Amino acid sequence: MRSEDDLTDDQKKAFEQNEADFTELKKRMRSFAESANSRLDASGLHRGPGTHPNRCLLCRCTAFQGTPDHPCTTYNCHHDMTSHDGYQ
Ligand SMILES: [Zn+2]
Ligand SMILES: [Zn+2]
Repeated sequence: MRSEDDLTDDQKKAFEQNEADFTELKKRMRSFAESANSRLDASGLHRGPGTHPNRCLLCRCTAFQGTPDHPCTTYNCHHDMTSHDGYQ
């Protein structure tokens, strides 16, 4: 296994930039999930925070059942993991 020290400056820089991008991505995913939740609350669905921590934001599925590589197996859901609250 190669250690950090074996990386060139360009490679280190590439990792640093990737980390910054993914930090930004996660921040955006969280804010998308927050908007999605308040939109659902405003629509009268009232699923409230904490009620179903892994509920789907795209349908009425109340808990994610699947794996990171396979979409939710809940009846009528079939959305992937990142579409569910709590996985951003
Ligand atoms: Zn689901
Ligand atoms: Zn769904």
